Amino acid sequence: METSQLRTLAIAASKNAYSPYSKALVGCALETSDGTIYTGCNIENASYGGTVCAERVAIFKAVSENKMKLTKVYVYTKEGWPPCGLCRQIMSEFADNDLEVIIGNETGTEKTMKFTELMPLSFTPDHLHK
Ligand code: ZN
Repeated sequence: METSQLRTLAIAASKNAYSPYSKALVGCALETSDGTIYTGCNIENASYGGTVCAERVAIFKAVSENKMKLTKVYVYTKEGWPPCGLCRQIMSEFADNDLEVIIGNETGTEKTMKFTELMPLSFTPDHLHK
């Protein structure tokens, strides 16, 4: 899918954010290796620890439908925030070798990078299988 389409979906997903505490609106749209698209928004919780980021919501939706390889992930916030460390670790579990991550902001500025640039030397399932 074109990046611009993922951006549109990520922005739409951010509008569903449940974030009464931080007020942050985060949206994620991702594509899996078979071309299926999943979206997610941040979902906060009064316990704080129960909060889940938009990226993980989208990834868990994909994995729950047996889509295990992520090929493209678009993350949208007004400010252009990058994925947190925990989301990067979750991404590394399901990252295609060429996973592309795009970080977009309100003005349309985008940073596009390979996942390996976003999280070099990540701990992956390969470490446990060798
Ligand atoms: Zn996160």
